[in-house]
Amino acid sequence: MSSMLVVGSIAIDTIHNHLGVHERVIGGSAIFGALAGALFVPVSIVGVVGEDFPLSAIQLLQSKGINTGSIEWAKGKTFHWEGRYSRDLTHRESIRTELNVFAEFQPKIPPALRDTPYVMLGNIHPNLQIEVLEQMARPKLVVADTMNFWITGTPTELARMLARIDVLVINEEEARLLAGVHNIPRAAKILQAMGPRIVVIKRGEYGALLFENGTVFSAPAYPVEDVVDPTGAGDSFAGAMLGALASEDRVDGASLRRAVIYGSVVASFCVEGISVSRLSTVSMQDIRKRYAAFARLAHFASEAELAQLGEKEEKQ
Ligand code: AMP
Repeated sequence: MSSMLVVGSIAIDTIHNHLGVHERVIGGSAIFGALAGALFVPVSIVGVVGEDFPLSAIQLLQSKGINTGSIEWAKGKTFHWEGRYSRDLTHRESIRTELNVFAEFQPKIPPALRDTPYVMLGNIHPNLQIEVLEQMARPKLVVADTMNFWITGTPTELARMLARIDVLVINEEEARLLAGVHNIPRAAKILQAMGPRIVVIKRGEYGALLFENGTVFSAPAYPVEDVVDPTGAGDSFAGAMLGALASEDRVDGASLRRAVIYGSVVASFCVEGISVSRLSTVSMQDIRKRYAAFARLAHFASEAELAQLGEKEEKQ
């Protein structure tokens, strides 16, 4: 079995949603990414926390077999993000982003982890994402995520990061912002021209689109009845997608499609609880069950039926 490395924010979040205010819960792209990836393969997490970070969160990661040896404890406060969701949970605004210990952070990848084949660059300052890549030997696949904060705040650094990755996982709104066009297939092409040969555009409750090798694959979103907290959906999607690819140790059209579905499955569990509460209790059995439900959700034509229509997959 292969393994993956996750770098990104390790956060204390304050979340305002339809249920009230959730103060100082665990969050951050690396936390969600690592918990999701660890469902599939051994994971090591790289990041920094401050003196206020709860030990119980580290213990939670360790209980999932995640290697926390490269989490640095720094003087000062942990990265803090505060966000507010609209009543229908389809939009959110960042009220506060306090980098705190991340402002001075320089990721150090220990020699034993430098040849980890699968790397997730979770959402964080693009320079930190680049610094991690510079220390890695020759990863088989690098997946990265980003958000509006960095797209508008650090565009030059972001462009440098994009030139060095294989897969960009990004939400629809941010894909438009980064590409500068509204049309999603066109935006995907523009993003591919910036570096990543594979682009996955997440469309919230409408699923995700995978653009790869001239083809497009549309994954539905699982119709979750009780969405409680969408925080971390994107990171758990990326973590599970990479974890699924690492567990197969193969990256091709078919494994990428399966991985996008695993990403959607794990994200659909993540949103069922506040912070990491649901993600940290989900089992592989739950995941397999929902994966099968996904397969049924959009399945309507067999290969034989398509052959009868004389249809072959067309490149875009
Ligand atoms: P997601 O919902 O997947 O987009 O990710 C939510 C997580 O991203 C939260 O737990 C936040 O702590 C973290 N986050 C928010 N803003 C930033 C930022 N500018 N850089 C890194 N992480 C962030």
